[in-house]
Amino acid sequence: MDQIIIENLQIYAHHGVYREENEKGQNFYINAVLETDTRNAGTLDDLDLSTNYGEVCTFLNHYITGHIYKLIETVAEKTAEAVLLKFPRIRRIILEVRKPEAPIALPFESVSVKITRGWHKVYLSCGSNMGDRKAHLDGAVDALRVDEKCRVLRVSDWIETKPYGGVEQEDFLNGAIALETLYTPEMLLEKIHEIEYAHGRERKIHWGPRTLDLDIILYENCVMCTQELTIPHVDMHNRCFVLEPLMHIAPYERHPLTGQTVRQMYEAVSRREENR
Ligand code: ATP
Ligand code: CA
Ligand code: CA
Repeated sequence: MDQIIIENLQIYAHHGVYREENEKGQNFYINAVLETDTRNAGTLDDLDLSTNYGEVCTFLNHYITGHIYKLIETVAEKTAEAVLLKFPRIRRIILEVRKPEAPIALPFESVSVKITRGWHKVYLSCGSNMGDRKAHLDGAVDALRVDEKCRVLRVSDWIETKPYGGVEQEDFLNGAIALETLYTPEMLLEKIHEIEYAHGRERKIHWGPRTLDLDIILYENCVMCTQELTIPHVDMHNRCFVLEPLMHIAPYERHPLTGQTVRQMYEAVSRREENR
């Protein structure tokens, strides 16, 4: 990815743990690497196709002088998020907040915090087999659309499927959603739980009937397994109702562990089902 680099932007602000810092203020220096595709802007010599670094500097100054935080960690976190929300062409930002006048009673040159934040590509699967199934799935997409930390990219058709897992219940409507998000996997799980509960989701029977189920299928090339979260979804390769709609919006995405494409996984599972 191309980079636009801002070095040592000087901003007089009032962040700090001590009251004197909040009252008197001091100089902060910002380094920012903005990851973005500059090729079109560069080829056509057109600023409208790029991110205006002057505007970014003005925004950084405005944001960092407009708030007071105790920690430079917080300055970095909040500022990185604000930049990513304000400038849609920036995919990722590496942001360093330096504080060379920090109150340390020893000789030193500078202290700083440096973080990397950005948009992450995610695929969700969604399903419903209670109430107005279509309204629940459409509602999930709407809830993601109004969240500024999510950008819905593609939504599959909703498809009719038979229940999975042996519990006698109504047929499902299933689909897949592609999005970009600023959330971490854990934060995204919290978000989808919130959406499920807003749609009256209850967890009574494992794999039982539900108004709305949202699962994280893929989160970039992330591979993780904690008590709350397994990514990629542990059973994705065995489920037609996940793979079929996903194939419609992302046939060539790959499982980060097996390397198989969504299409290959779908074809394999369809074959297995035919032979049954
Ligand atoms: P399955 O995960 O087999 O499709 P389910 O969707 O019916 O089953 P839920 O009751 O919705 O199961 O979720 C149970 C828990 O699974 C969640 O609270 C969450 O902590 C955990 N979980 C683990 N990995 C994921 C994932 N990739 N996406 C969503 N939830 C996950
Ligand atoms: Ca599920
Ligand atoms: Ca689930």
